[in-house]
Formats: sequence, C-alpha cells, structure tokens
Amino acid sequence: MSLQEQSCLVEDDPAFRWRHDLALKKLFSLMNREGEEVRVVGGAVRNSLIGAKVSDIDCATTALPQKVMEWAAEAGIKAVPTGLDHGTVTLVIDGRSFELTTLRRDVETDGRHAEVAFGRDWDMDAHRRDFTMNAIYMDADGRLYDPVGQGIEDAKARHVRFIGDASGRIGEDYLRVLRFFRFFAQYGREMEPDGYRACIAAQGQLCSLSAERVGAEMSKLVQGPFAVAALDAMHRGGMLSAILASVPHLSRFARLQRLAAQLYQKADLNLLLTALCVDVREDAIRLAGILRLPNRNRDAMMRMARTVRTIGSIDSKLLEQLAYEHGNETACDLVLLALVRRQINPDLTELSMQLRDISLWTVPVFPLNGRHLIDRGMKPGPQIGEQLNKLEKAWVASGFALSRQQLLSMAKTLR
Ligand code: ATP
Ligand code: MG
Repeated sequence: MSLQEQSCLVEDDPAFRWRHDLALKKLFSLMNREGEEVRVVGGAVRNSLIGAKVSDIDCATTALPQKVMEWAAEAGIKAVPTGLDHGTVTLVIDGRSFELTTLRRDVETDGRHAEVAFGRDWDMDAHRRDFTMNAIYMDADGRLYDPVGQGIEDAKARHVRFIGDASGRIGEDYLRVLRFFRFFAQYGREMEPDGYRACIAAQGQLCSLSAERVGAEMSKLVQGPFAVAALDAMHRGGMLSAILASVPHLSRFARLQRLAAQLYQKADLNLLLTALCVDVREDAIRLAGILRLPNRNRDAMMRMARTVRTIGSIDSKLLEQLAYEHGNETACDLVLLALVRRQINPDLTELSMQLRDISLWTVPVFPLNGRHLIDRGMKPGPQIGEQLNKLEKAWVASGFALSRQQLLSMAKTLR
C-alpha cells in the first residue's frame, strides 16, 4: 500500500485543534522549504486520536540538525541542541518548545545507546519507533500518515503494541519495557500478552538504564489513570520492587488513586510516590536517587512521610495547622495520605467540603517578629528566635486566635 493510500485528513476534528496553533504554523512555514519537510509525530498525534490531552509537540523532519539550527538562527528563533547526536533540536517559538528530530534509522543498538544514521525515509523512521500508536505523523495540511499501517487503529483502540517483534525491539533499548507499562498506565485496555512476556523476560537489563530515563517514565506511569493495573502487572512479573528498590504498597496506592478520583482531585507525583513506597525519610532519599528526582520532590516526600504519622483526628483545626505549616495543597494531600494509610473510608461529602474549605483558606501571617520583642526590652540574640518559635507554636495551637498584644504578654512569662 502506498503512503498516500494510508493517509487521511483530520480536517476540523476538534481533538486536533492544536494544529492551528500560531507557533506551530510558524514552525511549519520556517522548516517546510527547499525540499525539506516537518511532520508532527508521537504523543500529540496519538493523544488526539485517543481523545487525551496534548501536552508537548514532537516533530520529525527530513532536514539535518545543522540545517534546522541554521534556519532557526536566520529567523531569530531560539534553537537548543538538546540531543544533536540523535538529531534532536528544540525550537522555542513564542514561548513554546518543539522537539525536532531528523528522520533516523538505528545503525547499532546495545539496549542502552543507539548509533543512528540520518535519512529521508519516513517509512524507516516509523519502523524504528517503539509502538504502533507512536509512529503516526501529521503534516502541515493536517494529513495523517501511518507507515506501519496499524497505528491509527491501535491508538483508537488504546492498544499498546510494539512495532515488530517485541523482544527484539526491547533488546535494542530496554527503556521500552518501562514505556510499555507507562503507556498502558495512561491508556490501558487489555495488556498485549506478547509485549508483556517480552518485558518481563527483559527485566534483568533494566539496571543498565540511566536514572533520568527511568525516572521520567516512572513519573508518567504513576500519574496515569490506569497506573494501578500497570503497577500490578509489573509486580506480578516480579520487576516492580527492583525498580523502586523497595516493597511497594500497591493496595495503599490503589486506595489513594480511588479516593482522589472520587473527590475529583488530581493526586500529584509526590503524593502518589509517597503512597506507593515512602514510609520513612530513607525511602524518600533512595527513591529520589533511583528516579533522579529533584531535591524538592525528595524533600516534599520526606516531609509528607514524617508529618502523616503525627496526624490524629481530621478536623478543621488540624487542617488549618497543616495548611499553615505546609501550604494549602500539601494539607489536602496529607489528609488523603493519612486516610489511605489508616484504611479509613471517609464520608466523601464531608471530606470534599473540608478539602475545598482548606484549599481556599487564607493562611494567616504570624503577627510577631524579632523587632517587637526587642522593642519590649529583650536583648538581641539567639534567644529571640527561640522565643518566637515558642510563641508561634502557642499561636498556632490557639487556632491563630492570639493577638500580638496577648503574645507579647505571654513573652514575659515565657522568658
Ligand atoms: P508524551 O506525550 O508523554 O511525550 P511521547 O510518545 O511523545 O509521549 P516522547 O518520549 O516524547 O514520548 O517520544 C516521542 C516519540 O519518540 C515517541 O512517540 C516515539 O515515536 C519515539 N520514541 C521515544 N522514545 C523511544 C524509544 N525508547 N524507542 C523508540 N521510539 C521512541
Ligand atoms: Mg512527547
């Protein structure tokens, strides 16, 4: 079948509305010339067919990376050589990033690195991609191309299927194991048995992958709506504990995901990972290392694991205290975490009202500072900080009710 026969126009399909984006139009008009062509590929096209949200836009181009850089420079467009070896340049147009990768074919692969050759063959480029649903291209006119021939159908059916023989494709790049489960977590229908078996058979090779790549895929995986099923499949296959370097609490994770969904809340990455496998500080440190997460995620997970153990009965006073100490959103997260840890089935209407109130609550400002104490005759020094700490605790415990005057009178007695 020729490419033309396999292509179709998306016309005014609302799921593809993003194709009228001005920045993307600029990209097309800048790069579609002198016989070169750009097409959108990957997540944006796949998600539009599935009906999922489109976030980043990846493109493939016949132009060599140097040419892409040169044309961008001429047009005054920022071009970042994000992965020149692999032919990837990131263009920033009107504040939006687009990844442009020159058409490729893999020359040599060892499961972790690939030596690539640039080419002009869309068909070959499609066949070196991982899953049929990821090898669909859209050109500037909104025409879809599916060189593998099964991508559009699989995307619509949410069928995550390797292009070609699953174990052979995994042997070229072991990250595809995690990507298989990640896409299942995002779109999940039935898990393809061949793909699953090949992933389980290759699990011993995952330790050779870089922490950044594992972290990027696992972070997307746990946030997927079908993450429970994906994680469960990985666990049954005996690979999850090794990836997380800990024993995962799958049922706790499932309870959290269910509770968040019942409350129409989106559980964020820190909350999900903490529910899944962080109980103590060391867990957070280890997990952040394995997934190469930023320190702010590690610290947030550490704080959550520590604070959740101190939570007693959940009432508005506690929620305000948590919001004051950790911020409104984290307060809500802590409540959910506490409930799922203790396996409590809350009254959803009441909980949802409590969470709404606390997320809208204006965190009060402690009405006292060091100057107030010095003006009252206290000598400057470390004791000022200690005093302020004690007074702040008393103020929080009073439900933020104590006034500055009352706090200052207490200061005398505390000295
Ligand atoms: P997302 O929407 O999460 O970005 P994506 O499919 O666009 O999903 P990317 O990591 O941005 O994922 O990759 C873009 C495209 O590059 C993929 O759709 C796929 O065609 C190809 N690709 C990425 N990683 C691999 C891989 N390890 N092996 C083969 N092809 C890959
Ligand atoms: Mg992408």
